[in-house]
Amino acid sequence: MDSANHNLDNYRSPWMDEELDMLRDSIDRFVESEMLPHDLRWREQKYVDRAIWHRAGELGFLLMDIPEEYGGMGGDFRHEALLYEAVCGRGITSFGQGVHSITANYLRNHGSEAQKHRWLPKLASGELVGAIAMSEPAAGSDLRGIRTRAVRDGGHYILNGSKIFITNGYHAGLIAVVAKTGTGQDSQSTSILMVETKDLPGFKVGRILDKIGQPGQDTTELFFEDARVPVDCLLGDGEGQGLHQLMADLPYERLLVAICGVAIMERALEITIDYTRHRKAFGAAVLSFQNTRFELAEIKTITRVARTFVDRCIEQLVRGELDTTTASMAKYWVTEMQCQMLDRCLQLHGGYGFMKEYEIARLYTDSRVQRIYAGTNEIMKEIIGRSL
Ligand SMILES: Cc1cc2nc3c(=O)[nH]c(=O)nc-3n(C[C@H](O)[C@H](O)[C@H](O)COP(=O)(O)OP(=O)(O)OC[C@H]3O[C@@H](n4cnc5c(N)ncnc54)[C@H](O)[C@@H]3O)c2cc1C
Repeated sequence: MDSANHNLDNYRSPWMDEELDMLRDSIDRFVESEMLPHDLRWREQKYVDRAIWHRAGELGFLLMDIPEEYGGMGGDFRHEALLYEAVCGRGITSFGQGVHSITANYLRNHGSEAQKHRWLPKLASGELVGAIAMSEPAAGSDLRGIRTRAVRDGGHYILNGSKIFITNGYHAGLIAVVAKTGTGQDSQSTSILMVETKDLPGFKVGRILDKIGQPGQDTTELFFEDARVPVDCLLGDGEGQGLHQLMADLPYERLLVAICGVAIMERALEITIDYTRHRKAFGAAVLSFQNTRFELAEIKTITRVARTFVDRCIEQLVRGELDTTTASMAKYWVTEMQCQMLDRCLQLHGGYGFMKEYEIARLYTDSRVQRIYAGTNEIMKEIIGRSL
């Protein structure tokens, strides 16, 4: 099995230990035998089979950083990172486990005991797929501009509005919906409602969007028209905490994106070395040209620097010390490097690099959105800039 890209040249992340080595082996086997054979089909149909969520849950690979009393594995962020690395490191972008984990972490960090017991075990088993619905047609980077509104009516909120670009939207059974519960533009007017979508009148999933990359991920529109959501679905213990709750969990979300970025860079490097070693031009292997070696030497160095930075961020997050500025640096820089390195790896594949049947072409198109979602890289620089 060649899935341990992470260990190119036997590099070993300082946060790994023997227990994690064993977990990595079983996750790699799962990804290799139960995901990879289906990925091209998932890309065609624009969503993963629902069964893969149940299977991941059955094997204990969902919510690995959530305490056992809520159905999780009782591990920490390193366990979660392993799944992300394994999936992205095999070029699979169809499975939205990052958003699923973030949904669980909103609940863990801000939910009441009753909410945690109600939803986390179902997220851990794969019975529910999690999603986060912030973005709207007219508001993405600036969430203060959202128009989705939740108005209290006795024991319910009446939810109206539409969301766009929602990862896991097609499969999601539990959606963290960001909505206005107040009338102002201030940070106290926004809340998060945990919406169970099954049999919810007034809720509709729109089309699965046609994307230039990550085609197997079910990114959808969502519509709420007078959807009645019980008041006990409000996340936290009062209205108006939504933006604060979102901000508190940003380092987690941004680091997941950076982890995927570095795993894809490592994979691209590995397959490009292999390709150029076997491809001949002018009677010699493409790898033998000085330009190829210099290109790959630079790509390898930058990839290792990215890995080292991300490893340090993982250690900081496990200790509860990863601040928003550093997480934003990781998200911004790693994803910029990812796109640049993928472009260079694709170039070394010549015309074959432009063909979708080649993995490098898929990694290239899948990478582009990494600079856009989870906060655009311009917003990352704004945040980093505030720390100057
Ligand atoms: C594949 C995919 C999956 C996604 N998944 C989800 C999801 O699961 N849930 C969810 O809620 N959203 C999701 N999104 C939405 C994503 O988070 C937004 O697209 C992103 O935040 C940008 O918002 P926008 O598209 O409205 O762009 P805009 O906010 O309109 O930005 C347009 C441009 O202006 C720039 N810009 C904006 N403000 C500033 C500023 N202050 N300074 C400098 N430049 C600025 C931006 O960087 C960008 O280049 C997803 C998007 C994609 C493409």
